[in-house]
Amino acid sequence: MSSPDPNYPQFPKLSIDEIKAELVPEVSHWALTNGLVMYPPTFNVSQSSVAPITLYPTPFPRKSFEQAVSVQTLYNKLYAKISQDKDGWLSSRIEELAKFDAEFTGKLWELHLEAKKRGLSQKLALGLFRSDYLLDADSLMAKQVEFNTVSVSFGGLSTKVGQVHRFLNDTGKYSQNSGAPFYSEELPVSDSSSLLSRGLADAVKKFETSETHTVVAFIIQKGERNVFDQRVLEYKLFQDYGIKSVRLTIHDINTKTTMDPNTKRLFYNPTGEEISVVYFRAGYSPQDFTNSQDWENRLLLETSYAIKAPNLLTQLAGVKKVQQILTEESTLKRFVPDEKERASLVDSFVKIYPMDDSEVGEKAKKMAMKSPERFVLKPQREGGGNNIYKTDIPLFLKTIPEHEWSGFILMELIKPLPTTENVVIRGEKILQEPILSELGIFGCVLFDENEIYSNDYAGWLLRSKSSTSDEGGVAAGFGCVDSVVLY
Ligand code: ADP
Ligand code: MG
Ligand code: MG
Repeated sequence: MSSPDPNYPQFPKLSIDEIKAELVPEVSHWALTNGLVMYPPTFNVSQSSVAPITLYPTPFPRKSFEQAVSVQTLYNKLYAKISQDKDGWLSSRIEELAKFDAEFTGKLWELHLEAKKRGLSQKLALGLFRSDYLLDADSLMAKQVEFNTVSVSFGGLSTKVGQVHRFLNDTGKYSQNSGAPFYSEELPVSDSSSLLSRGLADAVKKFETSETHTVVAFIIQKGERNVFDQRVLEYKLFQDYGIKSVRLTIHDINTKTTMDPNTKRLFYNPTGEEISVVYFRAGYSPQDFTNSQDWENRLLLETSYAIKAPNLLTQLAGVKKVQQILTEESTLKRFVPDEKERASLVDSFVKIYPMDDSEVGEKAKKMAMKSPERFVLKPQREGGGNNIYKTDIPLFLKTIPEHEWSGFILMELIKPLPTTENVVIRGEKILQEPILSELGIFGCVLFDENEIYSNDYAGWLLRSKSSTSDEGGVAAGFGCVDSVVLY
């Protein structure tokens, strides 16, 4: 943890043996007591274990942290406006893009069109978003990696990781009982658990019904390992607002729910309760849909009167192509007329290029072939493991016909600060290694085609990965949940 910055946070140095003998049991007991857990890759229902986490919080400049937080409501508003699809801007972009990714973007687009044809009964839409950033080493600015509009995770566990790090600090465990190395306010705890469940509750309250109460349907993946992160939100929702939730996979919809054909209201069959909000923690990748019934189920949800978090247009607004187009000044201006707001957003951008036959696109293609080490190439997919990095780019591009390159975007690599030494706990493994961290800022926005009813910051997440890996998915096994020590 060496750095020329005299304010750079340092934890008392302990040997790996001391860490294993003293800190690891502390953190494991806290995690198991408080549900900072995840299912291992193969599991039965009673076998959870400590979630992949860091032992120490990671130093993060306060200014950069605040910069990322300060733009969240601007991003929420921006993506709400895009999703409103006034004069069909989003529709035209997605229609174009659908040709290049028929397997998924194209399917979602078709589904949206079909839902529109059958009739979209619910105008309200809920966005539970997460904007992800890497810290740029030169400017110390938080630079956006991507903006997620569907199935954002770790809002629940992030709070808990902050709590365990705060506990280890405040009880002097980091210093072998010689006092807390940091003030509490240097170790913030993300309030994402409370704020994301509040976002869901706000939508439930806005939902119009004659029923005395309704339920929220969490749409989850079969065999989900990250159950407890979702459960935190479910339990919060009940504890703070008395709102019940039910868990369904996309495959369950045709057997466990019924939509009234006249009112389009959606009911949960086992109890007959009305579903007010459908919260998607699945449905972001083609693997989530195994057959045509699954697609039909997604379509039914879209046409139902339940509020979707997100609906298909909002999900589609999160494609990487939209992120790229927003870096064009004229497009950003269209959605963000205020110059100051626009400047704040632009500060968080890095250069992203199209790979099409426009003038800029042709230049980008040349750059991708000539200096690939500066770039990451991204398709229109979510959930990790889809990108092509650096020198793999030219080799990859040569395997597909040039007219298909338009389905990708070319993004400048953000050069993060030199890595921080931390200790990663992953199952049985305790790894002392250099890590790189990605900051996520959550946001909630409730809107319809004309209005934005609420727009809020909703906490944060730090995910870290071993600095030797390009990707950082936690559940995918590349990364872990971390928290910050601000300086
Ligand atoms: P996904 O939707 O699959 O999560 P991301 O755009 O977040 O796709 O990319 C996955 C990972 O790749 C990120 O978490 C980050 O580690 C790395 N990455 C993506 N874009 C960049 C970039 N511009 N600079 C550096 N690393 C990046
Ligand atoms: Mg990502
Ligand atoms: Mg993503």
